[in-house]
Order: sequence, then C-alpha cells, then structure tokens
Amino acid sequence: MNRFVIANTCDCIGCKSCEIACMLAHNEQRYPEPGQHLQSRVTVVNTGSASTAVMCHQCDNAPCVASCPTAALVYQNDHVVLDEKHCIGCKSCILACPFGVISLTTNDHPIAQKCDLCEQKNSASGPACVNVCPTNALQLVTQKQLTQLRHKRQQETLPGLRASRQTGRDKLLLSPKRSDPDKLPADERRHHFQEIYQPFKPEQTCQAGERCLECADHANCRWTCPLHNAIPELIRLAKQGRINEAVELSHLTSSMPEVCGRVCPQDRLCEGSCTLESNSGSVTIGCIEKYITDTALKAGWRPDLSGVRPRSERVAIIGAGPAGLACADVLARHGVKAVVYDRHPEIGGLLTFGIPSFKLDKHVLATRREIFTGMGIEFVLNCEIGRDISFSQLIKENDAVFIAPGTYQSMIAELENENATGVLEALPYLIANTRNVMNIAEDPENPFVTLKGKRVVVLGGGDTAMDCLRTAVRQGATAVTCAYRRDEANMPGSRKEVKNAREEGVEFQFNIQPQRIVLNKKGAVAGIEMLLTELGEMDASGRRRPKIIKGSEFIIEADALIVAFGFQAHAMPWLKEGHVECDKWGQIRIGSNSRYPGQTTNPRVFAGGDAVRGADLVVTAMVDGRRAATDIIDMLDCEQAKATKAAS
Ligand SMILES: Cc1cc2nc3c(=O)[nH]c(=O)nc-3n(C[C@H](O)[C@H](O)[C@H](O)COP(=O)(O)OP(=O)(O)OC[C@H]3O[C@@H](n4cnc5c(N)ncnc54)[C@H](O)[C@@H]3O)c2cc1C
Ligand code: SF4
Ligand code: SF4
Repeated sequence: MNRFVIANTCDCIGCKSCEIACMLAHNEQRYPEPGQHLQSRVTVVNTGSASTAVMCHQCDNAPCVASCPTAALVYQNDHVVLDEKHCIGCKSCILACPFGVISLTTNDHPIAQKCDLCEQKNSASGPACVNVCPTNALQLVTQKQLTQLRHKRQQETLPGLRASRQTGRDKLLLSPKRSDPDKLPADERRHHFQEIYQPFKPEQTCQAGERCLECADHANCRWTCPLHNAIPELIRLAKQGRINEAVELSHLTSSMPEVCGRVCPQDRLCEGSCTLESNSGSVTIGCIEKYITDTALKAGWRPDLSGVRPRSERVAIIGAGPAGLACADVLARHGVKAVVYDRHPEIGGLLTFGIPSFKLDKHVLATRREIFTGMGIEFVLNCEIGRDISFSQLIKENDAVFIAPGTYQSMIAELENENATGVLEALPYLIANTRNVMNIAEDPENPFVTLKGKRVVVLGGGDTAMDCLRTAVRQGATAVTCAYRRDEANMPGSRKEVKNAREEGVEFQFNIQPQRIVLNKKGAVAGIEMLLTELGEMDASGRRRPKIIKGSEFIIEADALIVAFGFQAHAMPWLKEGHVECDKWGQIRIGSNSRYPGQTTNPRVFAGGDAVRGADLVVTAMVDGRRAATDIIDMLDCEQAKATKAAS
C-alpha cells in the first residue's frame, strides 16, 4: 500500500525544521562542510499568513517513474525511490512531476533529488521530517489512512461539529511580542564610550526564553548560526536558570559566546531566521547568549581542562583576532600547545582595536585573555611576524601554523585632494581612538585624532561607517553626517546600528555620491561636493547600482571627512618564504587540492578569517579558527599513527 507524508497547513508554523532534518538525514547528521551545498527534499512554502511543507506525493502510476529513461526511478516498497547509480541528470522527472518537488543536486555529477521517506537512513521510527515536526503537522500515511482523514475532516465541517482545538498556528500567534534589551538614553551615551545595551536580568531572560517555540533540536536559528550553536537547548537551560550547564554547552560550539552575543548581526543570522521573526518578533537569542556567559563568568565559572591530556605538539598562530583565538581555544582544549603572536599590545584584533567599546566593552577581552592564559595558551604580543620573527622560523619551530592576520588595506575614495589635512581613513581613526580610551600609549605612526567641535562627514553605509559616526559624536563633533550613495533600504550596515546612530544625533543623507573634496585657503578640508543619485540595475551583490543625476551638484560643508568604504587584503610579502600563495585579490588561498579545507598551499600551514574571506564577520572568523584547529589535530593524529605504525 502506498505511503507518503502529508502536511497539515493549520498546524504548520513554517519553522523549516523538516527541511533541516531532511538535509541532515541525508548527510549522516552532519552540518555541511565549507563549499558543500545541501538541498532539502522538503520545501516549506510560506505565504505570510499560512505555511505548509511540500514534498513528493509518492504517486501511484507516478509520471516521474514513467518518464525516467534509465529506470533510475522505480516504484518499490510502497513508494517511488531513486537509484542514484542510474541517474544521468536528464531532468525528465523534473518536467514530469506535477508538484514541482524534484530537483537536481548542484554537485559535479547532477543527480535528481526527491523525498525517499528516509529509506535506508536509519530512521526506524519514520521519516526525519515527520519525527522532528514540533506541531505534528506532518504525518506518514497510507492511501487508506488518507481516505479516513478525509472523511473525518468532511464530518468536522458539518455545522456545530467542528472540534475546537489549538492548532500550531494558534500557538504561534499567542506568542507575546519581542522585548529588546534596555539601552542607555541617547543623551547620556553621546558623552561616553560605555556599552549602550544593558545586560538582561534573570526575569528578562526567562520571559524571552518562554517565547521560544523550541522548533526542533536542529531549528532554523541553529542552522543559520555559522557556529551552529545549540540555540533551542541553550534557551531552555537559561530560562530554567541552569547556567553552568548552559555555559558548558555554549562553549562546545563557540570560543567567545559573550562576544558573539554582543556583536553578531543577529538580524541577518540566527534571529533573522527565527520562526517568530515575521510574527511577534524573533527571540532575543544574542542577549540570552551574552547573558549565559556573562552570568557564569561573574559567578566564577572557568573552563575545566583538568581532564585534558597534554600533547607534545606545538602550533603557532599569527594574529590574536577572533580567528586566531578560536583556533588556540580548540587546540588548548585538546592538549596542544598554542602560541599566539600579535603585533598589537593586547589580544582581540578588531574586537579590541576596531569595534568601539560602546558595542563591545574592552573588559570582555581582558577577561578572555585571563581565561585563555589560564588554559595554557601563550601570547607573544607587540611582535610582528615578518619584522620581529620570520615566518620560516615559525614554520621550522612548530608542528603547524595557523595564519589569521585580518585585512587592513582601506579602500580609497579615489577623489581629488584625498590626501589633504582633515581626510581620515576609518580604521586608523578608530584604532587610535580605542588606544586613547584604553589608555594605551599613542602609536606614533597612527596618532590619536579628536573631532571635538568639528563638522564631520563620513562616506559609506556599512558598520564601520556607523562606528566612525558614533565615535565622532562621542568625541564632541558639532555636526555628524553620513553620506551614502544608495537609499536606506540598500544600506549594508545593521539596522540596529543605523537606529542607534540616528538616536545619537547623526544626520543621514542618502542617494548622494562624492565628487570632489573642497579645500580652504590653507589646503585643509572645507567640504565635499556631492551629486544626487538614483538607483538603477542590480549589481553582482544583488543591490541596485546608483546612477549619478547630472547637474545636481551641491556642497556639504565639513572640517573632517572619514572614508569608510571597507577593507581589502594588505600586502604580506613574508608569506612567500613559507610557500603560501594568495589569490589575485591578495587573499590567502586555501583548500585548493588540499586534504583539509583550511589548508594553504603549504600543507603545514592553515589560514582563516578575514585574510581568507575578505572583510567579513567575527562569527565567521571564529568558525574558520575552530575548524582549522580540528583539522590540525586530525593531521597531527594521522602523523602520530603513521609514526607508531612505522616504529612497530
Ligand atoms: C570598525 C569595524 C567594526 C566591525 N564591527 C563588526 C561587528 O559589529 N560585528 C561583526 O561580526 N564584525 C564586525 N567587524 C568585522 C570583524 O571585526 C572582523 O571580520 C573580524 O575581526 C576578523 O577576524 P580575524 O581574526 O580574521 O582578523 P582581525 O580581527 O583583524 O585580527 C587579526 C590580527 O592579526 C594581527 N596581525 C596582522 N598581521 C600580523 C603580523 N604580521 N604579525 C602579528 N600579528 C599580525 C593584527 O594585529 C590583528 O590583531 C568590524 C570590523 C571593523 C573594521
Ligand atoms: S553566534 Fe551569532 S549567529 Fe550564532 S547564535 Fe550567537 S549571535 Fe546568533
Ligand atoms: S529561537 Fe526561534 S527558531 Fe529557534 S527554536 Fe526558538 S522559536 Fe524556533
């Protein structure tokens, strides 16, 4: 008798847990490797007011089976199955299927993909999608059961007989509205560099946690988090006050959860994919993540490495940013000695010197330095590889090297007079300000600049631009303007930070493009000439390209101009001596013809973070560092096993 999965729209809350369960079931329960593309055989269709899962109907006399020229699709064990060996990727089945539920994988050899009811996938208790559905909206039924269900439904529609029951969607609609963390008032925060978001109190954590629908163990929020943090379980533990268990669980996937909780663009990542997002607002995942670690650390929790057996190997890490620190963290937890080199006097990379303290207080990194040192990680600071120590020496003296030096070449505006007094590059300006806030001696090559009493214009619309604008406000600038060439909807910066900047008094001017820097008689900045723009065709990134409106010139008067157009890889000539190659953009090349995805063209050297990806995020840098550490340990284990075998 034919078996197939049906979806009940009344109960489907659109959480996509079935899609994720399907992908994991067909990938040995593993999240995808870098570059691996997993495709679900279930699709959740969401219309805004209703959602449902769509999948193979396992039709009797299936048209896909009839259309297959190689008999790769056959009718077997009550449903239509695909024998991948025979599939030639001809797409006949895709055209034949009346429900549009067959697709092709994007691997080298195209293979049709369709629901196989998890045949031979160790799913003794039924298909993965059915098992995982939090509202039991999915059911595996036979034709006979479907007929019975149809009769039941028909009866329910008779007047007065409709059973009153709470559906999955009702449950969703009952969820109370999201409540954001408290912020310091804008008038107050304009005058200092303290973090603006106040920590969650236990009752706020509990209230926020109660909203979580616990969609599934591998919920969509977890799938979208680059670290795949066990979000639903973390939320459950936090709301139950089981902080020690929560902090241990949190550190299984993340090296600095309290940092990610503060600086991740959650609206684009975990929170952006929360089932509640388009309903009552996503669960405040970032705040809960921050609460767990902050609370545990305050209560004296520290990682317990007493059960870790020390190993003889030693790994050098270049760069104490999030990628380097995450690599060191995982290595230390496996007993490998990690030595981290950085040219700065403090650890953290851009966490310390780029991201301003009103977003990430510097005591967070100071505590982390104490924790990492306690775990046996060694820091060699004020030490630049290629200047103070050669790269070849590091390779010679260590069993492996991980490179994570970030990207530090500012993009220029290519405007006339760009070198004039009063024109500043975003990152040196922010770094010098942070050193000043932290009372670290001024770097003579990058002196501190105050914009007190000045009219400031910042060019750019990303997070770095927002940080510059809000730093200038705090330094006491009289007027601070953001000039961006697209409209507000197309700004790359986080919505949250744009709102914060506006509250603090920043003026935004959209659809304008700089033309020329205007100088005063002394040759210093006096303003910037702008042209109005309108949005045209989409560019490669999917955003609409701004087009200049001729004859629309006007001048914004300014005493200082900050160029915040982003960063690209800086020159690292020392890489050559280690036979580490870069691509045409100067980013370190990894994964080409290598055993491990993070391996460079020198098999003993791994790389990750911004230096590989281009300017990206803290959380993705952390993913790279943790993965490289796991691969380095695997490489060392293999070598040890080989040596033992050769000796015996
Ligand atoms: C102003 C600003 C704000 C940002 N805000 C956010 C945000 O809110 N959220 C977010 O997710 N991301 C943000 N980012 C991006 C994020 O900070 C980076 O993606 C992340 O820090 C990259 O990590 P990394 O470890 O690859 O490099 P980095 O953090 O840049 O660390 C690299 C380290 O390597 C050291 N180094 C370099 N060369 C050498 C050498 N030869 N010898 C010794 N040491 C060396 C550097 O001194 C540095 O400490 C921001 C970036 C900037 C510039
Ligand atoms: S690491 Fe970032 S994306 Fe992942 S759960 Fe935390 S805040 Fe969300
Ligand atoms: S945080 Fe959102 S997506 Fe994640 S389990 Fe809770 S409700 Fe579902």
